[in-house]
Amino acid sequence: MHPERCMSCGTCREVCPHGCDPAQCEACGRCARECPTGAREVLGTDWDVSDLLHEVAKDRAYFDASGGGVTVSGGEPTLQAPFAEAFLTRCRDAGIHGALDTCGACGLDVLLRLAGTSQLVLYDVKEIDPERHRRFTGLDNARILANLDGLARWADTRADPPALWVRTPLVPGATATAENVRGIGRFLADHLGARLVRWELCAFNNLCREQYRRLGREWDFAHEPLMRRGDLDRLLAAARGSGVDPDAVRITGAARMDDGEEVHHGTPGTTG
Ligand code: SF4
Ligand code: SF4
Repeated sequence: MHPERCMSCGTCREVCPHGCDPAQCEACGRCARECPTGAREVLGTDWDVSDLLHEVAKDRAYFDASGGGVTVSGGEPTLQAPFAEAFLTRCRDAGIHGALDTCGACGLDVLLRLAGTSQLVLYDVKEIDPERHRRFTGLDNARILANLDGLARWADTRADPPALWVRTPLVPGATATAENVRGIGRFLADHLGARLVRWELCAFNNLCREQYRRLGREWDFAHEPLMRRGDLDRLLAAARGSGVDPDAVRITGAARMDDGEEVHHGTPGTTG
């Protein structure tokens, strides 16, 4: 949505079977086709598995040179599990490294099916306190933590399991507390042990501000600045002292120095 182009003609609400209620949108595209100003648009492209594999295979030389590959992300790929599983299987058969990036809020059977076709699983653990997790995301973390434990136990039985990375987004005023980081670290140490290859503390950024704007939605953190380097260093120390292998912990993303200069920690992604 480009609100600045809207002339409030009302056409989109007339043609939409749901009156343009975002909660009921079926992505039929009718509103965008009828909008006279281009204020509404349909983003994204439908793919079938073969065409998508053909598309990503164009980057094979780059993957080979960099050690990279494909990350099935989202949104949430477990919501499109049959497609994600078929695509990751084709990537694996074609010799393309495949990673699954998930929040873990799905059935364990779905998670294990997708993990079984991946070489790397990137797993979000945002908040260790169930009530705070519910407040921040709308859902408590019981299933997410149980699934992570189940994933580690399943990996113990596999000859060639995917590598397991955990990612914790550090959001100021929410997840970016030493108490939360220490609690997550204790859980990872107790339940994953040496299965944990990497734990990324992902420094807050506001790059999704534009997406919220185009969706016409308010975002509480739209004006939140990058985190200070000193605060990130304190959270890194809390993570490294929580019981996990200290060498597995990384900070990713950008921070700001006290003088306002931005510095970057590592590169978010699937290699390294
Ligand atoms: S059809 Fe386009 S211009 Fe008209 S109200 Fe909807 S978004 Fe605005
Ligand atoms: S794409 Fe547009 S017309 Fe179709 S359901 Fe969604 S809001 Fe309504």
